[in-house]
Amino acid sequence: MIDLSFTEEQLMVQKLARDFAAREVAPTVQKNDTKAFFDPEILPKMAALGLLGLTIPEKYSGTGNDYISLGLACEELECVDTSLRVILAVHIGLNSLTLLTWGTKEQKREYLVPQAKGERIATMGITEPAAGSDVVGIQTHARKDGSDYVITGEKMWISLADVADNFIILAWTDLEKAKKRDHSGLSCFILERGMKGLTTATIHGKLGVRTGNTGSISMDEVRVPEENLLGNEDEGFKIAMFALDQGRYTVAAGSTGLIRACLNASAEYARTRSTFQKPIAEHQLVKEMVAEMASDYEAARLLWLKAGWLKNQGKPNTRETSLAKLYACEAAEKAASNAVQIHGAYGYSNEYNVERFFRNAKGAQIYEGSREMHKLIQADYALGIRADKPLRRILPRPE
Ligand SMILES: Cc1cc2nc3c(=O)[nH]c(=O)nc-3n(C[C@H](O)[C@H](O)[C@H](O)COP(=O)(O)OP(=O)(O)OC[C@H]3O[C@@H](n4cnc5c(N)ncnc54)[C@H](O)[C@@H]3O)c2cc1C
Repeated sequence: MIDLSFTEEQLMVQKLARDFAAREVAPTVQKNDTKAFFDPEILPKMAALGLLGLTIPEKYSGTGNDYISLGLACEELECVDTSLRVILAVHIGLNSLTLLTWGTKEQKREYLVPQAKGERIATMGITEPAAGSDVVGIQTHARKDGSDYVITGEKMWISLADVADNFIILAWTDLEKAKKRDHSGLSCFILERGMKGLTTATIHGKLGVRTGNTGSISMDEVRVPEENLLGNEDEGFKIAMFALDQGRYTVAAGSTGLIRACLNASAEYARTRSTFQKPIAEHQLVKEMVAEMASDYEAARLLWLKAGWLKNQGKPNTRETSLAKLYACEAAEKAASNAVQIHGAYGYSNEYNVERFFRNAKGAQIYEGSREMHKLIQADYALGIRADKPLRRILPRPE
């Protein structure tokens, strides 16, 4: 049976996110974007509405919503500003859902509960100055010392790096395996702001997501108790890939929202701007761009809904999530480029939102697996070169 209608609960989350973004973010987003200002007040406001605990079960102080609700929230948030959705991508997608799935009882009590309440903000650091797509090229390493690990390394391009309290960090625990690029030598650790040797900084001069925080994390001999190892010592790569399955899902749904934002802005402008004595909405070449946005929106939405449905069923979804992310991000960049085109010279200035949409759309073709990496993933599935192996842990079905 295929049922594409939403439940009352899902519609409530959608409305909550839509109203929040319209009320709290839309009025100031252009000004903040121009100043590249991240407004820290946004986080407690999101927390108060439960947006930072979406999909985390109530027993861990979350809202207990399903994964479709998370996708709907991401669509609504990114329809107003990408940086808002990025918060859910890293706080819930990369970090909290990973803790929920791989964390011990103690780790969930210590870290997941305050994260779900929004009292502590979380992110994940995989990327480094010299390694992004090539995850096994990272250099951060963790040395065992008694019952502690001592971690040294540098993470870069990390969303909320300079804001977050809790971090999941990928590091080598087996340097012999690092030399052989054997990913079973990688491990994940939970780190906290305030640990000696851990410092963060903000990266300035970004093309997009200027109302969001992106930064670096430096770890100079950071001493971490062994209780903060996430999963087993040889499972870091698997955990990181698992985390990306959740982060990518939020990017797919968010980028779908960005396509809708471009469509809405373009339709409104095309109806009111006239050339050659008629609204530009009546020129066929403009209609073509609008039609593409409309069809891409529907297709992108169906793709993330399928991935979300699989997550709700507790089924593997790496392939579907990757495809949803690839399609939505490509379509969002095209939609944003054409939205600028439809606005003509006005689209080229920050008088209209589409200029920001265009800059923001580019980032999603790079982060959470670049466009090229997702094309390779899809090709390898289609060619039979890649198949999903069973994981020790799978994302829990919503209760
Ligand atoms: C705004 C923003 C937020 C981010 N947030 C986070 C975060 O929270 N946590 C985190 O860990 N990281 C984060 N990142 C980092 C992001 O995930 C990486 O930038 C991404 O994985 C790409 O890595 P890279 O930039 O090192 O590019 P590289 O890996 O150096 O790639 C450069 C180019 O080469 C292409 N390429 C690389 N290998 C291949 C190949 N085999 N075949 C074909 N083409 C190839 C890539 O597609 C890309 O076009 C963020 C990045 C940005 C811009």
